[in-house]
Amino acid sequence: MNSWWDKLFALQINRFIWLALICEVCAGCKKAIDPDVERSIFSMNRHWHLEHFRCATCSRPFHGHEHYEKKGKAYCKKDFLELIGHHCFICDKNCAGAMVHVFGKAFCPDCYRCKGCDRVLHHKDKVMELDLLPLCKKCIGHKNFQKALKYKSG
Ligand SMILES: [Zn+2]
Ligand SMILES: [Zn+2]
Ligand SMILES: [Zn+2]
Ligand SMILES: [Zn+2]
Repeated sequence: MNSWWDKLFALQINRFIWLALICEVCAGCKKAIDPDVERSIFSMNRHWHLEHFRCATCSRPFHGHEHYEKKGKAYCKKDFLELIGHHCFICDKNCAGAMVHVFGKAFCPDCYRCKGCDRVLHHKDKVMELDLLPLCKKCIGHKNFQKALKYKSG
């Protein structure tokens, strides 16, 4: 015959097994996350203690704030912008310093060329974006590109 004690005991055991089954391991500290006492977040296909989900550069926890991902790592906005700000859109090299920033991308001075005539452009040159690449003023006036630009906007 089952006493109330037996029932309670069985319940506790079940809860123990259940916890062991559903407990996720934090990708930061590699320890189990107890959903009852610890706050956690599921991000980048992994579980994290809230305070262990942090920026790969400055190690500040995101605490639910925006984060940005690149190559399996998470970054705060400031560090992410710094990271992509120095990566050339064409050659993917990290050339800190003299980068040309256009259309939300960065180009190293050698890679910043016109899509039409392949001329190396100056960052002050007037350009238009065609297929994510710059087009110089001379090429914009060219009728072949006029067609392409029209096609793109229409
Ligand atoms: Zn953790
Ligand atoms: Zn950061
Ligand atoms: Zn480059
Ligand atoms: Zn051109």
